[in-house]
Amino acid sequence: MNQGPRQSCSFLMSLFGFPVCPLCDVALETGFGVDGDLCRTCWAQVFRGEPDAPAGLCALCGHTLLGEVDLCADCCRQPWSFARLDGLVPYRSPAGELLRAYKGRNRSGLARCWSRLSVPRLAPAAPLVPVPCHPQHFLERGWDPVARWAHFLSRDAQVPVWNLLIRRRTVSQKLLGRAERSENATRSYCLRRDAPNKLKGQKLVWLLDDVVTTGSTVEACAKELLRGGVAEVRVLALCLH
Ligand SMILES: [Zn+2]
Ligand SMILES: [Zn+2]
Repeated sequence: MNQGPRQSCSFLMSLFGFPVCPLCDVALETGFGVDGDLCRTCWAQVFRGEPDAPAGLCALCGHTLLGEVDLCADCCRQPWSFARLDGLVPYRSPAGELLRAYKGRNRSGLARCWSRLSVPRLAPAAPLVPVPCHPQHFLERGWDPVARWAHFLSRDAQVPVWNLLIRRRTVSQKLLGRAERSENATRSYCLRRDAPNKLKGQKLVWLLDDVVTTGSTVEACAKELLRGGVAEVRVLALCLH
Protein backbone atom coordinates (compact mmCIF):
# COMPACT_ATOMS: atom_id res chain seq x y z
CA MET A 1 0.00 0.00 0.00
CA ASN A 2 2.89 2.28 -0.74
CA GLN A 3 1.65 5.13 -2.86
CA GLY A 4 5.12 6.32 -3.93
CA PRO A 5 5.72 9.98 -4.72
CA ARG A 6 2.23 11.03 -3.67
CA GLN A 7 3.37 10.53 -0.10
CA SER A 8 5.85 13.37 -0.32
CA CYS A 9 3.23 16.07 0.07
CA SER A 10 0.94 14.14 2.39
CA PHE A 11 2.84 15.13 5.52
CA LEU A 12 2.36 18.79 4.60
CA MET A 13 -1.31 18.12 3.82
CA SER A 14 -1.85 16.64 7.27
CA LEU A 15 0.04 19.55 8.86
CA PHE A 16 -2.41 21.96 7.27
CA GLY A 17 -5.39 19.95 8.46
CA PHE A 18 -6.24 18.22 5.17
CA PRO A 19 -7.35 14.66 5.87
CA VAL A 20 -4.93 11.89 4.88
CA CYS A 21 -5.41 8.13 4.79
CA PRO A 22 -4.22 6.66 8.12
CA LEU A 23 -2.87 3.57 6.32
CA CYS A 24 -0.86 5.02 3.41
CA ASP A 25 -0.70 8.80 4.11
CA VAL A 26 -2.16 9.80 0.75
CA ALA A 27 -4.34 12.90 0.85
CA LEU A 28 -7.99 11.90 0.71
CA GLU A 29 -10.11 12.76 -2.32
CA THR A 30 -12.95 15.23 -2.02
CA GLY A 31 -15.97 13.43 -0.74
CA PHE A 32 -13.90 11.17 1.48
CA GLY A 33 -12.19 12.76 4.43
CA VAL A 34 -14.45 11.92 7.33
CA ASP A 35 -12.28 11.43 10.43
CA GLY A 36 -10.76 7.95 10.21
CA ASP A 37 -11.55 7.17 6.57
CA LEU A 38 -9.18 5.06 4.52
CA CYS A 39 -8.44 6.26 0.97
CA ARG A 40 -10.34 4.61 -1.87
CA THR A 41 -7.34 2.40 -2.82
CA CYS A 42 -6.70 1.10 0.70
CA TRP A 43 -10.40 0.55 1.32
CA ALA A 44 -10.69 -1.55 -1.83
CA GLN A 45 -7.57 -3.58 -0.93
CA VAL A 46 -8.50 -4.15 2.69
CA PHE A 47 -12.19 -4.91 2.28
CA ARG A 48 -12.15 -6.80 -1.00
CA GLY A 49 -15.02 -9.00 -0.02
CA GLU A 50 -14.43 -11.80 2.47
CA PRO A 51 -15.82 -15.15 1.29
CA ASP A 52 -18.74 -16.29 3.40
CA ALA A 53 -17.88 -18.96 5.94
CA PRO A 54 -19.24 -22.26 4.56
CA ALA A 55 -20.96 -23.34 7.74
CA GLY A 56 -21.50 -19.98 9.42
CA LEU A 57 -19.97 -18.57 12.58
CA CYS A 58 -20.14 -19.66 16.21
CA ALA A 59 -22.91 -17.72 17.95
CA LEU A 60 -20.76 -17.15 21.02
CA CYS A 61 -17.19 -16.56 19.90
CA GLY A 62 -17.60 -15.71 16.21
CA HIS A 63 -15.08 -18.29 14.96
CA THR A 64 -15.82 -20.22 11.76
CA LEU A 65 -17.86 -23.36 12.34
CA LEU A 66 -16.32 -26.54 10.99
CA GLY A 67 -19.50 -28.57 10.64
CA GLU A 68 -20.83 -27.87 14.15
CA VAL A 69 -24.25 -26.30 14.66
CA ASP A 70 -24.63 -22.92 16.45
CA LEU A 71 -21.62 -23.22 18.78
CA CYS A 72 -18.05 -24.25 17.91
CA ALA A 73 -16.43 -27.23 19.64
CA ASP A 74 -14.37 -24.92 21.92
CA CYS A 75 -17.43 -23.06 23.20
CA CYS A 76 -19.33 -26.32 23.76
CA ARG A 77 -16.42 -27.67 25.82
CA GLN A 78 -15.75 -24.51 27.77
CA PRO A 79 -18.63 -22.25 28.72
CA TRP A 80 -17.22 -18.70 28.65
CA SER A 81 -17.91 -16.06 31.26
CA PHE A 82 -18.68 -13.46 28.61
CA ALA A 83 -22.01 -13.49 26.80
CA ARG A 84 -20.66 -12.69 23.30
CA LEU A 85 -17.39 -12.28 21.47
CA ASP A 86 -17.31 -10.22 18.32
CA GLY A 87 -14.30 -9.40 16.12
CA LEU A 88 -14.14 -6.52 13.65
CA VAL A 89 -11.92 -8.26 11.08
CA PRO A 90 -10.50 -11.77 10.70
CA TYR A 91 -6.72 -11.86 11.21
CA ARG A 92 -6.02 -14.07 8.20
CA SER A 93 -7.64 -11.85 5.60
CA PRO A 94 -6.79 -8.72 3.63
CA ALA A 95 -8.53 -6.75 6.37
CA GLY A 96 -6.07 -8.22 8.91
CA GLU A 97 -3.61 -5.78 7.31
CA LEU A 98 -5.33 -3.04 9.31
CA LEU A 99 -4.22 -4.72 12.53
CA ARG A 100 -0.70 -5.48 11.28
CA ALA A 101 -0.30 -1.81 10.32
CA TYR A 102 -1.88 -0.54 13.54
CA LYS A 103 0.19 -2.59 16.00
CA GLY A 104 3.15 -3.78 13.95
CA ARG A 105 3.94 -0.56 12.13
CA ASN A 106 2.66 1.94 14.69
CA ARG A 107 -0.04 3.39 12.46
CA SER A 108 -1.81 4.84 15.48
CA GLY A 109 -3.98 7.06 13.25
CA LEU A 110 -5.99 3.94 12.39
CA ALA A 111 -7.62 4.16 15.83
CA ARG A 112 -10.25 6.45 14.28
CA CYS A 113 -10.92 3.92 11.55
CA TRP A 114 -11.30 1.13 14.14
CA SER A 115 -13.71 3.30 16.05
CA ARG A 116 -15.89 3.89 12.99
CA LEU A 117 -15.96 0.15 12.27
CA SER A 118 -16.91 -0.57 15.90
CA VAL A 119 -19.80 1.83 16.42
CA PRO A 120 -22.43 -0.34 14.65
CA ARG A 121 -21.32 -3.41 16.69
CA LEU A 122 -21.81 -1.67 20.01
CA ALA A 123 -25.46 -2.52 20.48
CA PRO A 124 -26.67 -1.98 23.10
CA ALA A 125 -24.33 0.84 24.07
CA ALA A 126 -22.61 0.43 27.44
CA PRO A 127 -19.37 1.54 29.14
CA LEU A 128 -16.09 0.38 27.55
CA VAL A 129 -13.52 -1.52 29.62
CA PRO A 130 -10.19 -1.81 27.77
CA VAL A 131 -7.92 -4.80 28.45
CA PRO A 132 -4.79 -3.06 29.76
CA CYS A 133 -1.54 -3.36 27.83
CA HIS A 134 1.45 -5.30 29.21
CA PRO A 135 3.70 -2.66 30.89
CA GLN A 136 6.70 -3.81 28.84
CA HIS A 137 4.79 -3.51 25.55
CA PHE A 138 3.69 -0.01 26.53
CA LEU A 139 7.29 1.00 27.15
CA GLU A 140 8.42 -0.48 23.82
CA ARG A 141 5.62 0.98 21.70
CA GLY A 142 5.05 4.22 23.59
CA TRP A 143 1.27 4.00 23.21
CA ASP A 144 -1.51 1.54 23.98
CA PRO A 145 -3.48 0.35 20.89
CA VAL A 146 -6.56 -0.72 22.86
CA ALA A 147 -6.65 2.46 24.97
CA ARG A 148 -6.35 4.62 21.86
CA TRP A 149 -9.17 2.79 20.09
CA ALA A 150 -11.31 3.06 23.27
CA HIS A 151 -10.65 6.81 23.39
CA PHE A 152 -12.12 7.42 19.92
CA LEU A 153 -14.89 4.88 20.31
CA SER A 154 -15.96 6.58 23.52
CA ARG A 155 -16.26 9.86 21.63
CA ASP A 156 -18.03 8.37 18.58
CA ALA A 157 -20.46 6.14 20.48
CA GLN A 158 -20.97 8.55 23.41
CA VAL A 159 -20.14 5.98 26.07
CA PRO A 160 -17.62 6.31 28.91
CA VAL A 161 -14.31 4.43 29.19
CA TRP A 162 -13.97 2.65 32.50
CA ASN A 163 -10.36 1.71 33.24
CA LEU A 164 -11.15 -0.91 35.85
CA LEU A 165 -8.52 -3.56 35.19
CA ILE A 166 -4.87 -3.72 36.21
CA ARG A 167 -2.27 -5.69 34.24
CA ARG A 168 0.33 -7.29 36.46
CA ARG A 169 3.91 -7.79 35.30
CA THR A 170 3.57 -11.46 34.41
CA VAL A 171 4.94 -13.18 31.30
CA SER A 172 3.53 -11.91 27.98
CA GLN A 173 0.80 -14.24 26.66
CA LYS A 174 2.51 -14.30 23.27
CA LEU A 175 5.39 -16.34 24.72
CA LEU A 176 3.17 -19.13 26.03
CA GLY A 177 1.39 -22.17 24.63
CA ARG A 178 -2.35 -22.66 24.71
CA ALA A 179 -2.45 -24.59 28.00
CA GLU A 180 -0.20 -22.14 29.88
CA ARG A 181 -2.07 -19.07 28.66
CA SER A 182 -5.19 -19.69 30.71
CA GLU A 183 -3.29 -19.99 34.00
CA ASN A 184 -1.07 -17.01 33.20
CA ALA A 185 -4.06 -14.84 32.21
CA THR A 186 -5.80 -15.56 35.51
CA ARG A 187 -2.71 -14.32 37.36
CA SER A 188 -2.23 -11.32 35.08
CA TYR A 189 -5.39 -9.26 35.55
CA CYS A 190 -7.18 -7.94 38.58
CA LEU A 191 -9.76 -5.28 39.35
CA ARG A 192 -8.91 -1.85 40.62
CA ARG A 193 -9.95 -1.39 44.22
CA ASP A 194 -12.77 1.04 43.35
CA ALA A 195 -14.12 -1.07 40.44
CA PRO A 196 -17.03 -2.68 42.35
CA ASN A 197 -18.47 0.82 43.03
CA LYS A 198 -19.04 1.18 39.30
CA LEU A 199 -19.83 -2.43 38.44
CA LYS A 200 -22.44 -3.21 41.12
CA GLY A 201 -25.90 -2.82 39.59
CA GLN A 202 -24.46 -2.28 36.08
CA LYS A 203 -26.26 -4.41 33.44
CA LEU A 204 -23.56 -4.58 30.77
CA VAL A 205 -19.99 -3.55 29.92
CA TRP A 206 -18.06 -4.00 26.67
CA LEU A 207 -14.61 -5.48 27.19
CA LEU A 208 -12.23 -4.31 24.43
CA ASP A 209 -9.15 -6.24 23.30
CA ASP A 210 -6.97 -6.12 20.20
CA VAL A 211 -6.47 -9.77 19.20
CA VAL A 212 -8.32 -12.74 20.62
CA THR A 213 -6.48 -16.02 20.02
CA THR A 214 -7.30 -18.64 22.66
CA GLY A 215 -9.76 -16.40 24.51
CA SER A 216 -7.94 -16.84 27.83
CA THR A 217 -7.19 -13.12 28.31
CA VAL A 218 -10.76 -11.95 27.73
CA GLU A 219 -12.05 -14.87 29.81
CA ALA A 220 -9.84 -13.88 32.77
CA CYS A 221 -10.88 -10.22 32.48
CA ALA A 222 -14.58 -11.06 32.09
CA LYS A 223 -14.44 -13.22 35.22
CA GLU A 224 -12.93 -10.33 37.20
CA LEU A 225 -15.60 -7.91 35.94
CA LEU A 226 -18.42 -10.33 36.87
CA ARG A 227 -16.81 -10.74 40.28
CA GLY A 228 -16.98 -6.95 40.59
CA GLY A 229 -20.76 -7.09 40.18
CA VAL A 230 -21.65 -6.37 36.53
CA ALA A 231 -24.45 -8.62 35.20
CA GLU A 232 -23.10 -9.21 31.68
CA VAL A 233 -19.81 -8.80 29.79
CA ARG A 234 -19.60 -8.71 25.99
CA VAL A 235 -16.27 -8.70 24.19
CA LEU A 236 -15.38 -6.65 21.13
CA ALA A 237 -11.97 -7.36 19.58
CA LEU A 238 -10.21 -5.80 16.63
CA CYS A 239 -9.27 -9.24 15.30
CA LEU A 240 -10.19 -12.83 15.91
CA HIS A 241 -7.17 -15.01 15.19
ZN1 LIG B 1 -4.69 4.70 1.84
ZN1 LIG C 1 -17.22 -20.57 19.71
